[in-house]
Amino acid sequence: MNFDFTDEQIMLRQTTKQFVDKEINPFIQKWDREGAFDPAIWTRLSELGLMGVCIPEEYGGSGMDYNSLAIVCEELERGDTTFRTAVSVHTGLNSLTLLQWGTEEQKQKYLTPQAKGEKIGAYGLTEPGAGSDVASMQTTAVKEGSYYVLNGQKTWISLCDQADHF
Ligand SMILES: Cc1cc2nc3c(=O)[nH]c(=O)nc-3n(C[C@H](O)[C@H](O)[C@H](O)COP(=O)(O)OP(=O)(O)OC[C@H]3O[C@@H](n4cnc5c(N)ncnc54)[C@H](O)[C@@H]3O)c2cc1C
Repeated sequence: MNFDFTDEQIMLRQTTKQFVDKEINPFIQKWDREGAFDPAIWTRLSELGLMGVCIPEEYGGSGMDYNSLAIVCEELERGDTTFRTAVSVHTGLNSLTLLQWGTEEQKQKYLTPQAKGEKIGAYGLTEPGAGSDVASMQTTAVKEGSYYVLNGQKTWISLCDQADHF
């Protein structure tokens, strides 16, 4: 079996590395101190196809494989954990779940804009009394007419103040 990176993956690593060196590293200390960052970063990540790197092209992604997502995460993490977390939650936890389990309608409505980076996805598992122990989750979603009424508490939710989809 050949475990070498493909030419496409090597290029992807180079692109992500350059992006981190030029557009994240010079500003990260300032953003860290201020507790905020320039939201234009999302646009740049989207333009480079990094918000849906392993999502099929038919759903707005770059159509690469899971190793490619790992490469992107590795290079982002080299700069700072913030954007690695953002991309791995948005793509790995949210978008890949939609790809695997979503209906076609959900994929069109939620996955496609996420893969293009037009909408940001978050993932809400952890609660004050439940993290790894998923079965202890207390939050409920009860359908009332055409809406779900949510009740409960969440904690540690990355991008909770930025995301469009949870
Ligand atoms: C930077 C950051 C970002 C995060 N972003 C998100 C997010 O976007 N969405 C989200 O939902 N959560 C997020 N989390 C929360 C994270 O997913 C939880 O911390 C994780 O689920 C662990 O849950 P817990 O903290 O309740 O720890 P616990 O589940 O209480 O675990 C505590 C310890 O017990 C061990 N343990 C747990 N169960 C077992 C078992 N059955 N057998 C043996 N050992 C066990 C664990 O390995 C751990 O060492 C984030 C956390 C961090 C630090």
